[in-house]
Amino acid sequence: MGTAKPTHDDEGAQHEESALETARRQLERAASIVDVDDGTIERLNHPERVQRVSIPLKRDDGTIEVFTGYRAQHDSVRGPFKGGLRFHPGVTEEECIGLSMWMTWKCAVMDLPFGGGKGGIVVDPKELSTDEKERLTRRFAEELRDVIGPKHDIPAPDMGTGPQEMAWFMDAYSMQEGETTPGVVTGKPPVIGGSYGREESPGRSVGIIAEQAIDYYDWDVNETTVAVQGFGSVGAYAARYLDDLGATVVAVSDVDGAIFDPTGLDTQDVEDHDARPGMVSGYDAPHSITNEELLELDVDVLIPAAVGNVLTADNADDVQASMVVEGANGPTTSAADEIFQERDVPVVPDILANAGGVTVSYFEWLQDINRRQWSLERVHEELRTEMLKAWDAVREQVDERDLAWRDATYAVALSRVADAHDSRGLWP
Ligand code: NAD
Repeated sequence: MGTAKPTHDDEGAQHEESALETARRQLERAASIVDVDDGTIERLNHPERVQRVSIPLKRDDGTIEVFTGYRAQHDSVRGPFKGGLRFHPGVTEEECIGLSMWMTWKCAVMDLPFGGGKGGIVVDPKELSTDEKERLTRRFAEELRDVIGPKHDIPAPDMGTGPQEMAWFMDAYSMQEGETTPGVVTGKPPVIGGSYGREESPGRSVGIIAEQAIDYYDWDVNETTVAVQGFGSVGAYAARYLDDLGATVVAVSDVDGAIFDPTGLDTQDVEDHDARPGMVSGYDAPHSITNEELLELDVDVLIPAAVGNVLTADNADDVQASMVVEGANGPTTSAADEIFQERDVPVVPDILANAGGVTVSYFEWLQDINRRQWSLERVHEELRTEMLKAWDAVREQVDERDLAWRDATYAVALSRVADAHDSRGLWP
């Protein structure tokens, strides 16, 4: 790293940055690229609404505990709010606002008729029984009932929640409304209006976008090597998609470590972390390496798909990959981003690459409204079409304005949101 370090923002400071600070900084940067009215930027710096609720829960032993929940609704100029509900002890109001802003850009870059939302409960779900989780989820649905709905705000699973929580949430809402309302949440089990292909969609979109990027740089996919950090829901599907295309996936990892085979791993044979924890790092591969070493492998494409802030000012100079495609949300700190730009290492951002999740959520919402389920083949086909449309819009900005991929992506998203604000104007 040597002399590079002082010129880049300190990594320690990066870790301290809250999701809201990151979101505001990104908005400021996007505003410097796109010609947008200051008043619109000021509006976008604030959420439209944040609902804070107290959720009383009767524990299995009969005692009462009160949990705090939030729903942040950032911007609805293009349509209802959309975004996850997480059950996690680290949930804060600020985090929900920041993440809801990211959702606004993610929906806009995909040209979905949604704005950003995010919410959650400050709770460790591992400390609750299944019955307690059900009671908590149902009561949360009731507390939020006034501010959500298929035309207002459509939550989805996030950290600590999944199809079961969405099913309880939808049932509670439907009971109170007096009619079955599947479109109030997405990520439900298919038997009650969930979409086929929802689970694999973020990883699949990472694969589709990586495929386009490989093609953009005129690389032969059959000679492209790939390393994936985090062989979970996103990483495993991305790795398998690229493996199926002919790329050589040389390394994958889970929280315990990474496996490396320079001749290529059989990604179908490696079980993902969710299926059986420990099976990735425990897989019989020629080399076991650390997660840090995986990030610095000499590969063509690096896909960080585990957690945020793994590519930092401390390791960005040692990353040997020719391109980074972000699978996780926020895996690259802004300091690392700057280093990659100086080193001409393209970084294709999260809000484009992993947007397959919210896109198939949109498909689920359409299916619910129309009361007609799509086949898996149709979901895959339409997802590909939407991803290519978004890719083309971003690529055009890269080519025409010589922007980095992240800047081009934010430029597309912010222009769409700002144009919508401009057209609708401000209610006096
Ligand atoms: P997951 O829990 O299914 O998988 C995460 C994987 O990363 C696991 O293999 C786990 O062992 C590994 N991991 C966890 N902590 C790690 C660490 N510190 N170092 C290295 N590996 C670690 O999670 P997921 O749903 O695949 O989500 C991964 C990322 O993608 C997150 O940033 C998430 O916010 C983002 N994302 C998920 C979705 C979705 O719908 N699942 C959509 C968009 C973005």
